[in-house]
Parts: sequence; C-alpha cells; structure tokens
Amino acid sequence: MTAPRPLVAGNWKMNGLKAALAELAAIRDAAAAGGAGRAETAICPPFTLVAAAVEACKGSPLAIGAQDCHPRVSGAHTGDVSAEMLRDAGASYVIVGHSERRADHGETNDIVRAKAGAALAAGLAAIVCVGETKGEREAGQLTAVVGGQVDGSLDKGFDPARIVVAYEPVWAIGTGLTPTAADVAEVHAFIRARLLALYGAKGEGVRILYGGSVKPSNAAELMAVKNVDGALVGGASLKCADFMGIAAVYR
Ligand code: PEP
Repeated sequence: MTAPRPLVAGNWKMNGLKAALAELAAIRDAAAAGGAGRAETAICPPFTLVAAAVEACKGSPLAIGAQDCHPRVSGAHTGDVSAEMLRDAGASYVIVGHSERRADHGETNDIVRAKAGAALAAGLAAIVCVGETKGEREAGQLTAVVGGQVDGSLDKGFDPARIVVAYEPVWAIGTGLTPTAADVAEVHAFIRARLLALYGAKGEGVRILYGGSVKPSNAAELMAVKNVDGALVGGASLKCADFMGIAAVYR
C-alpha cells in the first residue's frame, strides 16, 4: 500500500472572531497556490466560524473541520453540537478526544469512541487524539497509555479510510517542547502496529499526525520521521505564514 497523503490540520481552539476569517482566506489562497504541495490542509475553527469558513473556502483545497461533536445525532443536550450538524454546515473533519477535552470535560476513551463513531456515521473524517502526560511518560507508562487510548478510542468497525490519529504528547502542547525525532518514530511505529492489528493492511493507510509545538523551524525534522503523515497544529495555525511554513515541508 502506498503511503497516505499527508494532512496538515490546524486547531484554532477557542480563538477566532469573525475578523479571523481574513487569516483563513490567506491560508486558503496560499493552499490554492500550491503552498502545501502534496499535503492536504484543513483548519478547525471554533463552532461559531465553521459555516462562514466553509463558505469562504468553497471550491478551494482548504478543508474545514470542527473541534468536537456530541455522540448523538440530536436531542436534549444543551450547548452541544452533533456531527450531523457539522456535516450540514459543510465541515469535513472533526477533532475528537483532544487532551484539553479529555482533561477539561472528563472525556474517557469510551466517550471519544462514541464521538468518532458519530462523526463517521455523519460522513465526517475523525481526527482522534491520543498522547501521554509528562508524569505518565516519566513513570514508564507511555505505551500503556497511548496503546489504551488507541484501542479504546477506535472501533474495529470504523472505516479506516476516514480515521486520522493524532499523537499529541500532552507536555508538548503549547509549551514549545517537542519529543526527539527518535521518540516520535518509536511512538508512531507503535501506533502503526496497533492500527495494523485493528484494521489489517488497511491500517497502513490511516494517517498518523504528530502534534505538539510544531512550528516552521521544526516541521521538516518532525515530518520526515517514518509513520508521521502530517501535523496537527495549534498555536502556529492561527497565522498564515506559520501554518503554511509548516505545510511547505510537503512542497
Ligand atoms: C494542539 O493543541 O492540538 C496543538 C498541537 O497545540 P500546539 O501546536 O499549540 O502545541
């Protein structure tokens, strides 16, 4: 099986008012001009901007995603947004199980798996996040934690073609710290083996993104690592120059 097409996805988190659509338009235009080369690009703005972002990116290569969805299609869940609603708004991706949601909202692997299942059922691709805390890494629990998250957040019945796994060590998110390339290689190979066990040969086609303090200055080294099929980018996705400076690795 040939290597999957890389994906560089931006997670805007709780950032972005309507004025930020100008930065999105700059990213759209840079992607349309071939700035990401062979990579696919996506931006996941807050819910309030999803529909406007979809409208702004119609006909362009920049895909739009969201940052969470509810496991159910509809119902009495005040403040929540379903995957079907996101699809209806024109999104094509949704991030599920980000460590900030696992920590802030107590999301367990079972909840994340239900959300990923809802995303796939609605026709979205799910970016499923996994990653260990500093304490877990130092206690030698990295593979137990990440392996448990991969196995617990995915389902054998999922279509692997619409699953993306993002390995994001919690201690690397927003800190400027990153694992070494050798550490990233080891964890991504470990995740790949789990995907092969779950999906057979199709596990080879599941994109495994690295996320955590990716910047233009470290992207080339991190993206060159075997089994790294792109990046999930937080802070650096808010500025076109930084985001496209990362995506430019694939030109
Ligand atoms: C993230 O939160 O998904 C992330 C990768 O953040 P940052 O790039 O800012 O570390």
